[in-house]
Amino acid sequence: MELIYLDHNATTPLHPEVKRTIVDSLDIFGNASSLHPFGIDARRRVEQARKRVLSILNATEGQVIFTSSGSEANNLALKGLICRGEKCRHTVCNVQQFHYITSQIEHPSVHQTFYCLSHMGADVTYLPVDGFGRVNPDDVRRALKPNTVLISIMMGNNEVGTLQPIREIGTIARESDVAFHVDAVQAVGKLPIDVDAMHIDLLSLSGHKLNAPKGIGALYARNSMALCPLIHGGHQELNLRAGTENTLGIFALDKALAIALIDGETEAAESRKLRDLMHNKLTESLTGVHLNGHPTQRLPGTLNLSFDRIDGAAILEMLAMQGIAVSSGSACSSGEESPSHVLMAMGLPPEKARSAIRISFGLGNTEDQVQAAAAILIRTVEKLRTLSPL
Ligand SMILES: *Cc1c(COP(=O)(O)O)cnc(C)c1O
Repeated sequence: MELIYLDHNATTPLHPEVKRTIVDSLDIFGNASSLHPFGIDARRRVEQARKRVLSILNATEGQVIFTSSGSEANNLALKGLICRGEKCRHTVCNVQQFHYITSQIEHPSVHQTFYCLSHMGADVTYLPVDGFGRVNPDDVRRALKPNTVLISIMMGNNEVGTLQPIREIGTIARESDVAFHVDAVQAVGKLPIDVDAMHIDLLSLSGHKLNAPKGIGALYARNSMALCPLIHGGHQELNLRAGTENTLGIFALDKALAIALIDGETEAAESRKLRDLMHNKLTESLTGVHLNGHPTQRLPGTLNLSFDRIDGAAILEMLAMQGIAVSSGSACSSGEESPSHVLMAMGLPPEKARSAIRISFGLGNTEDQVQAAAAILIRTVEKLRTLSPL
């Protein structure tokens, strides 16, 4: 049985050139803090990776802090700002005095962090989204308070792919002198990003969503952002994240970003083509198929669909048995009973939200795979509908 991977929003395969970089770097073992040739070689490559992050974000200035994941980058952005403007080097200082603005459809690594901050006394506004999953910039403006310190809105949603009006929100943040954080984990490498034009102050990315390995992420922070570390210890990462650097992960991320700088646009166009082919095939043959997310303002490789009268989990399971890998909602909520918080925030009734699956495209996918997977999915939906008691 040929396995077909259509779950690139959950994680991506290694790019062959990234794999080669890792293999070729296995013996570069120096500690990047050491002042001898072993360390200096490692340091040079780490700094090259830092520049590459700035370059893919079109940043003219700023700090890049390598982290263990996109989740850690998000945590650092939100919790690290607690000491903003102070010399304090401890987290958890003045959180009761701060107001934050975010949306109801953020990744768990953002919304759980905000739940944590609000338990510590912070005031957090969770903005609603429209039926396409878009935040209204006017809502952001209306939510501002004199003590608002941070707005955190994701660029592209991992479940439905909807893209947010980042530039408009960034402009509001800048006019109000409020820091703006963007979780761009799903967007980096696929869409052009310009942190200066978009007025982004903090931005998170993750290696394994762009064909680098798991366990490496990064936070971009404008120089004016005074962050405090989550992990205290040595002087690594501009004193913002102690621990000897994950050099192999950093080299791999550097390579993946270098590839994305050249191929990102073409790869995104290819994903978009395969996604639209799948969507067309399904709607030609099946009734009761509904697109979740914005029809055009959407990540190139994301297709989230609800199928009338059947459960997304049942489709997922039957596809898995036939070698097709997709997701119901997000990877993080698979196995959970409650329907996706994203689809619920978009106003879908629970049964529609439960009938959703996410098909996501990327490196290695071909038209033949899409044709084969579409045929299997159509048969599966028809079969489940004949069995459906609804
Ligand atoms: C995957 C993902 C994350 C978390 O990244 P990890 O490296 O897996 O921790 C954060 N935000 C979004 C939008 C994601 O898709």
